[in-house]
Amino acid sequence: MNNFVYDIPTKVYFGQGQIKYLPKLVENIGKKVLLVYGGGSIKKSGLYDEVQQLLKGCEIFELSGIEPNPRIESVRKGSQLCKEHGIDLVLAVGGGSVIDASKAIAAAAKYDGEAWDLVIDRKLIKAALPVITVLTLSATGSEMNFHTVITNFETKDKIGTGNPHTYPYASILDPSYTYTVPRSQTAAGTADIMSHTFENYFSTTETAYLQDRLAEDILKLCIHYLPIALDEPENYEARANLMWAATTALNGTTAFGKGDAWSCHAMEHILSAYYDITHAVGLAILTPRWMAYILNDKTVDRFATYAHNVWGIAHSEDKFAMANEAIEKTYQFFVDSGLPMTLPEVGIDETYLAEMAEKVAPRLKYSYVPLNAEDVVNIYKACLTPGSK
Ligand code: NAP
Ligand code: FE
Repeated sequence: MNNFVYDIPTKVYFGQGQIKYLPKLVENIGKKVLLVYGGGSIKKSGLYDEVQQLLKGCEIFELSGIEPNPRIESVRKGSQLCKEHGIDLVLAVGGGSVIDASKAIAAAAKYDGEAWDLVIDRKLIKAALPVITVLTLSATGSEMNFHTVITNFETKDKIGTGNPHTYPYASILDPSYTYTVPRSQTAAGTADIMSHTFENYFSTTETAYLQDRLAEDILKLCIHYLPIALDEPENYEARANLMWAATTALNGTTAFGKGDAWSCHAMEHILSAYYDITHAVGLAILTPRWMAYILNDKTVDRFATYAHNVWGIAHSEDKFAMANEAIEKTYQFFVDSGLPMTLPEVGIDETYLAEMAEKVAPRLKYSYVPLNAEDVVNIYKACLTPGSK
């Protein structure tokens, strides 16, 4: 296991009705709030009115319309508002996109230069306004980590940034706010949780026993509870378990002591930057093909462990058979969840595969199994047709 520092400063208020803590949390910081939200789901659900009611004593400024795959233009707009009005804190009410945009806004509000600088060089983030989040979609873990992923469609880049300054100050995690998440987003969100877990689990550090058993349990939880949440959107236990799994999968708990660069996220971000697709749909498409591509003599033991511990596949002398069965089950789970499972289904053909692969390859030099541009093209090509390979 590698050395690590455990330091997650975010306060988490988990469960039904925990929004009651919001006024006190805001009061601790100040009165001028920038309320950031997306395309309107919080207005439909009534959460917008609830927040307004709770913060009656505050001066609220608003930035709405944050896009899935939040854009640098929104970050610029938000940071401008913060500077103009002397905002004390940013309140993100929504999914990962709203939270990511809010963190970037909070950092850009404390930066004199161009906001995109902070995306391409996280070291430039020296301060940020406090961010409070009210989560409405279980997926990214952004509510308890410092990452923020921002897209620049002009340069066709989607890049993760952030450092300890961009941890949310507090997050309110009420699973009942996810009752209204549509089937497609519920399935996609769970694919994101699973992908975060895989990215840490398939690692060159195989001695992190606790992190790995926890990762397996997160995966089993997703496999068990996603079908329930899809059948019964208002099943509290299913929504609550998925929500805490999402947070745990990317708050560092399964990553401490590990250090490989992530593979599927890097390959997906470039797809989103070129085609503006749903992040987790891209991940679901890529993951089984990536697994099949990197299965070899060196990785087979880890895949056999995954097969047995997550899917209950019986031990066998033939570890490749175990691994292949687990990869097929992973693929089939996403199919059964209703996710599109080929690139053409999300509007991607061969046109830019080589260009995207060239662009992303430098980031994959230090991944679990290092990949070059040719490998990435092969993985993308495998995603053009149905099947796990
Ligand atoms: P999202 O982009 O925040 O939201 C997706 C859609 O779901 C939006 O249309 C949103 O509508 C809707 N929605 C959200 N909550 C809802 C609710 N309660 N009821 C009905 N509809 C609801 O999805 P996400 O998967 O959470 O975030 C994706 C972004 O996060 C991507 O850009 C991805 O790259 C990034 N990401 C970040 C991290 C991280 O650690 N920071 C990790 C992984 C991925 P409205 O807009 O109307 O609200
Ligand atoms: Fe993700």
